[in-house]
Amino acid sequence: MEPLKQLIRTIPDFPKPGIQFRDITTLLQDPWGFKRAIDEFVTHYRYSPIDKVVAIESRGFVAGGALAHHLNCGMVMARKKGKLPWHVERQEYQLEYGTDCIEIHKDAIKAGERCLIVDDLLATGGTCRATCQLVERLGGKVVGCAFMIELAGLKGRSRLTGYDVHALVSYEGE
Ligand code: AMP
Repeated sequence: MEPLKQLIRTIPDFPKPGIQFRDITTLLQDPWGFKRAIDEFVTHYRYSPIDKVVAIESRGFVAGGALAHHLNCGMVMARKKGKLPWHVERQEYQLEYGTDCIEIHKDAIKAGERCLIVDDLLATGGTCRATCQLVERLGGKVVGCAFMIELAGLKGRSRLTGYDVHALVSYEGE
């Protein structure tokens, strides 16, 4: 098995029955693993001009912050409803049952800025797609979507058609 994948813990039936939760805390707490994950992102994006890393709450903040530091760009937090203190743009998106929503500050991105979206995991792609829509509404350009983990069986990439999607580790059906 790939070394990074070995550091990800799978917890069956969390937070509800039937979900295989891919837990990155075991990767983050491993000094080699955390550095390796960030280094792989940096290698992938080092020649892409990026102005802002847009990191998705909450586990996306970890990789997003480190990556923004290494790529010498700003970092923007895309947060769940009601967490950001200033004026926000908001985008709702579909969940299996019901809806959720994501927000960013209206002044987080300036027209023409090149943005890299970062989250820990790509499942159905709804969260990332909503974040791309927010970036574009503010006039930003999405240069890529980066994930530590992709659950390929859920076909999140199909909701991100037109965007460059990169994941460090992929799970098919295991
Ligand atoms: P989605 O919008 O369906 O792509 O869901 C992505 C978001 O939900 C990410 O922010 C993940 O942190 C979280 N998520 C969804 N499924 C899982 C899973 N099986 N294990 C861990 N996190 C998950």
